[in-house]
Amino acid sequence: MFLVDSHCHLDGLNYESLHKDVDDVLAKAAARDVKFFLAVATTLPGYQSMRELVGERDNVVFSCGVHPLNQDEEYDVETLRTLAAEPGVVAMGETGLDYYYTPETKARQQESFRNHIRIGRELNKPVIVHTRDAREDTLAILREEKAMDCAGVLHCFTEDRETAGKLLDLGFYISFSGIVTFRNAEQLREAARYVPLDRLLIETDSPYLAPVPHRGKENQPALVRDVAEYMAVLKGVSVDELAKATTQNFSQLFHIDAARLQSA
Ligand SMILES: [Zn+2]
Ligand SMILES: [Zn+2]
Repeated sequence: MFLVDSHCHLDGLNYESLHKDVDDVLAKAAARDVKFFLAVATTLPGYQSMRELVGERDNVVFSCGVHPLNQDEEYDVETLRTLAAEPGVVAMGETGLDYYYTPETKARQQESFRNHIRIGRELNKPVIVHTRDAREDTLAILREEKAMDCAGVLHCFTEDRETAGKLLDLGFYISFSGIVTFRNAEQLREAARYVPLDRLLIETDSPYLAPVPHRGKENQPALVRDVAEYMAVLKGVSVDELAKATTQNFSQLFHIDAARLQSA
């Protein structure tokens, strides 16, 4: 089996006491058939230090961007464009809107989100979108900026089935994290059943949000296996089929050669 963690923050894991180093994290993942990783940036300095931490690897690709929760300080859009063009960067983000935690930076979040989509269209790199308490504005900006041209994924999806439908209409993929395993997530499970297998991704968003039965512990890429097993039951397919579909979707969306995924 070959599983991909389509969204993890490899620089956010606990290297003090839980893991020796990145090799250790990736080995624990490989032991559970999780063999390819998209390491997601949340600030520009964070992108640079994460690349240093991870190094060049056949089985890790990167995104470059500034998270909506990190808009308290301005950043240089030209620097974003330059870094995002680097080899090894397959996506813009994470970007998007979060009105739940930082409504006071709304205007700046929107401007930043638009910039990420514009650069994504220029560079032909899809956008990784985070949204919380901002459903309507997120959809409006995706439409206004013609995000269908570069495509993208709504990551760690927690919206309803109707919103999933609107994102699918825009050509977007939808990624589910461990939240789908939570006891009170019935509305989310309904959305997960609705998203077709060929538009589905899975992720950990580690170190946050460990899936059942690991809740409360640190999340790590190895645990995308638990998300895959849970999603397979929801979709009524084997774990193998779910792994195959989500790996193929990952390859398609982020323009990663299927041969590279098999050889990793
Ligand atoms: Zn996010
Ligand atoms: Zn994230």
